[in-house]
Amino acid sequence: LAQLFRPLDLLGMVYRTIRQGLIDMEAMYALIDTPTEVADRAGAPTLAVTGGTVQFDQVHFGYDPQREILHGISFTVPAGRTLAIVGPSGAGKSTIARILFRFYDIQSGSVTIDGQDIAAVTQQSLRAAIGIVPQDMVLFNDTIGYNIAYGREGASQAEIEATARAAQIHDFILGMPQGYDTRVGERGLKLSGGEKQRVAIARTLLKDPPVLVLDEATSALDSRTETEIQTVLRDISRKRTTLVVAHRLSTVVDADEIIVLDQGRIVERGAHADLVRADGLYATMWARQATERDAPVAEGENGADR
Ligand code: ATP
Repeated sequence: LAQLFRPLDLLGMVYRTIRQGLIDMEAMYALIDTPTEVADRAGAPTLAVTGGTVQFDQVHFGYDPQREILHGISFTVPAGRTLAIVGPSGAGKSTIARILFRFYDIQSGSVTIDGQDIAAVTQQSLRAAIGIVPQDMVLFNDTIGYNIAYGREGASQAEIEATARAAQIHDFILGMPQGYDTRVGERGLKLSGGEKQRVAIARTLLKDPPVLVLDEATSALDSRTETEIQTVLRDISRKRTTLVVAHRLSTVVDADEIIVLDQGRIVERGAHADLVRADGLYATMWARQATERDAPVAEGENGADR
């Protein structure tokens, strides 16, 4: 028995270590498919974030170098501002987020944060500077408190509760059978899409990163939940540089700049009102979604993804 026990212990330890080291990997679940290896350069410095200005300059990228997906993408998100990325399915929106996390190295051009090339700094410091609220977070089979605390090692119960309050999930947690000690995940209490998103928001708030990536849910939340979550997201993005990967257009109206991607190219850019006036692809998408918004929600779609 002892012989069996040791390897299992070791396995448990390795598992916990990996788990601790992979906070962002876990959070990025919805964004990653099969990340290739990127390596830190020898003696790479850590990223020194001053304000959090994010800049893409003539970025060319393909998962397969033979098939380019992004054909020269350039934009700047000044510190504290919000950029929304919209466009049809497959346009390359999530790819931009993956590149910012440096899950892949680009073929040419540059990506910088506060003027530092993200390929030149350590991956750890890069990922520590970026928080993500993924569209569908995977919860650990652990307590709800643990799931939030994962945003920052050593967070106190008071800090966890403060962020849960800010993410508007504190009252819901208090209503659970064992409060913050209630087990969630596959083997515990299942949370709805909106609840999981709030946990993701709380976790990100605890991490308190200068740069935020919001990967907007593709699945429909009921409209009250959606409005509440949008209010919280607007709050947390106020003082941070934010990139919203918008699969729908509901969160982009207030963005400082919107870029419209189509087949890996920016085909339009500007603020919401300008783009509606321009009467191009964005205006068409907006008009189509307005029709969908006004249409009655089909049975079973409301508050989906439980
Ligand atoms: P959606 O709104 O449907 O999520 P998107 O605009 O986010 O779409 P991306 O996920 O960035 O689109 O995909 C852009 C292109 O890259 C697509 O043609 C897709 O097939 C391709 N692609 C995405 N991930 C990979 C991958 N891991 N390996 C190879 N090609 C990929």
